Amino acid sequence: MTNLSKLLRQELEEKYIIHYGDVQLDRKAKDHTRKFLIGFNTKQDPGAIVETVIIPEKHRSTLCISSQIGCSLKCSFCHTGTQKLVRNLTAGEVIGQYMIAAQRSGDFPIQDNSKRVLSNMVFMGQGEPLYNWRTTSKAIKILTNSEGLAYPKSKIVVSTSGVAPLIPKLASELGVSLAISLHATNNDLRDELVPLNKTYPLEMVLDACRQYSQVMGNKGRRITFE
Ligand code: SF4
Repeated sequence: MTNLSKLLRQELEEKYIIHYGDVQLDRKAKDHTRKFLIGFNTKQDPGAIVETVIIPEKHRSTLCISSQIGCSLKCSFCHTGTQKLVRNLTAGEVIGQYMIAAQRSGDFPIQDNSKRVLSNMVFMGQGEPLYNWRTTSKAIKILTNSEGLAYPKSKIVVSTSGVAPLIPKLASELGVSLAISLHATNNDLRDELVPLNKTYPLEMVLDACRQYSQVMGNKGRRITFE
């Protein structure tokens, strides 16, 4: 940051560090999927560990980010759902996951004109991102700000198990893509698989998706139903 004096830069370097999180595991599978376990302040809080995963494909790589430690929603097919919610992550901790993956993939420091290795980002790791709205929205605003990390909004997908009241805000406040963790097309089965369906049944979720689409208009990409 050459807009700061040399002296101040030297002082900052001596007295402060930028710490993105403790990488406790960085493992690549045979198919090149790369999994990180990242801890935050684990000396005081040993259980504060989340998974962050890079999923490579032929023409792109997707970074899967966690938004909470544990989860309160107990979807019956999900391992995280067997763990209690420990806490929400902060925006710094969400961005820390990106920074660690970006540094280790060569995407940071950002090079003008060069294609990012981590071409897509999904909020699909541990936790329900819309149950941690303050963090999710703050992190996405920093990631996408042209004076922040300038990450393209169209390449960010927020996946939700169906927190209907907040789905339209993904369009009106953030302008990012939407995925619905659907798993069943009728309420009886979905009540079993995704218990949040008892609070926000399919009709409410689909209505929220319509509102999202209306606000996104032409900018909108297709909604993904998983
Ligand atoms: S909301 Fe996501 S993380 Fe939480 S239990 Fe359901 S699938 Fe798992």
